[in-house]
Amino acid sequence: MSPKQSKRSGKPFAFGLLLVATAIAAAAAIYGFGLRSAEPSQSGHVPEAEPQEAPPPVAAEFRMTDLERGWMRYTDGTVKITADGGASWREAIEGEAGTETPAVGSAKGSAFPFDWSWIPGGAPHPSEVSADGQTYAVKQSQFATDRVGWALPADGSQLSDTLLVTVDGGATWHAGVTPEVAEAIRTEKERLAEIARERAMYETDEAAARIMSSDWALLPERASPGDVVLVRSRQAGEISWQGKTYPLQPFGLGYYTYLPIPKSVKPAAYPIGDRILTVEAKKFDTQYLQVSKEMESMRQDTARIQADQKKIDAARAKSEPQFLFDSAFVKPVEGVLTTPYGYTRYVNGKLDSSHMAIDLAAKEGTPVQATNDGIVALADSLYLTGNSIYIDHGMGLFSQYAHLSKLLVKTGDRVKKGDIIGLVGTTGFSTGPHLHFTFWAHNIQANPDLFFGKTPFRWSGGE
Ligand SMILES: [Zn+2]
Repeated sequence: MSPKQSKRSGKPFAFGLLLVATAIAAAAAIYGFGLRSAEPSQSGHVPEAEPQEAPPPVAAEFRMTDLERGWMRYTDGTVKITADGGASWREAIEGEAGTETPAVGSAKGSAFPFDWSWIPGGAPHPSEVSADGQTYAVKQSQFATDRVGWALPADGSQLSDTLLVTVDGGATWHAGVTPEVAEAIRTEKERLAEIARERAMYETDEAAARIMSSDWALLPERASPGDVVLVRSRQAGEISWQGKTYPLQPFGLGYYTYLPIPKSVKPAAYPIGDRILTVEAKKFDTQYLQVSKEMESMRQDTARIQADQKKIDAARAKSEPQFLFDSAFVKPVEGVLTTPYGYTRYVNGKLDSSHMAIDLAAKEGTPVQATNDGIVALADSLYLTGNSIYIDHGMGLFSQYAHLSKLLVKTGDRVKKGDIIGLVGTTGFSTGPHLHFTFWAHNIQANPDLFFGKTPFRWSGGE
């Protein structure tokens, strides 16, 4: 109860009557029955001494349909609409679009891009709020996001045409849209778009809701040496893993990093955040390769190899701080798999290295497509890998294409998935036309087979 109104009406009894009248008027406005016809009219006999003063129309109900647009219905049935988050209101023309009640709470039916109801600790619905040193009982409140919300004071006459608004999840409230509030609403609009982007990365709305409302998620929770896992946290921070530190980078509502699992990692259960990453044993086959003496000696030119490595390191040293793709990765070339991922390789009978890539044999000149959207971090002729391309897909993930006969992109180019970036060849240390292809996550090779037809967001997360 507001002290102002109690004073005006004098007695608590009279104030009670006023409330009842207001409630009837509100019901009339909502259900559409006419107040006048509901009143008993005793053949025009109205006491002259005490004319029944109609209560001034007050806001009875409101609904914001997005961060800026909404409507307010008054006790006399009039409807006003806003297009600036409640800063200004004007009377709606009858049947005007935007004044109908939206399907609130349903992600798809709502004008909001997002259903926030599952966010833990999400915005509460307060029974009273304080703004500008005054406390208001709240009749109705609505949160568009976990930050932005509006409240209608129980006594609408206190603030005519004004909703109380918060832009910090209800910690502080404002009696109107100040320039700071308007700016915060604009920022929130951008954040909503970003969050909608994160949500769209997941296979289903259910998966998105489950993962995005968890403190931690590992995608997936079981992996093998040579794989990579996508980690999501609700909080900023970093992960220490295998002697390295991986900072979590913001995306949508969370923070992410790729976590490479080097081939040397022992199969075991590793705690990551509040989850357990299970690294399972994997057997890698062995391949014996015979190459000519000339070719074998090629690999002794350490100066050239080191010079190339410097170029590669520089190209992979920085990555766009966002995911540059939004759909599944594709195979860069349809070819014959001649060396699967992770093979232990012997060259001319000597233990050489692990082949942490796939070799796809195809005819010289076969077009090679970008596995997904990204930025060409390096397109150069290198000594061992021949004509080579590294594409940055953001957040520390790169794809690598080697032994090309021709480069069709240059460093710095933006590419889309499926763009032809080069042609199959046998340049560098190669025994025949093929594409040597792999992924690098934070400078550690990652199994390409995980990516084809998928994105890391769809590597199933823990239930
Ligand atoms: Zn290879």
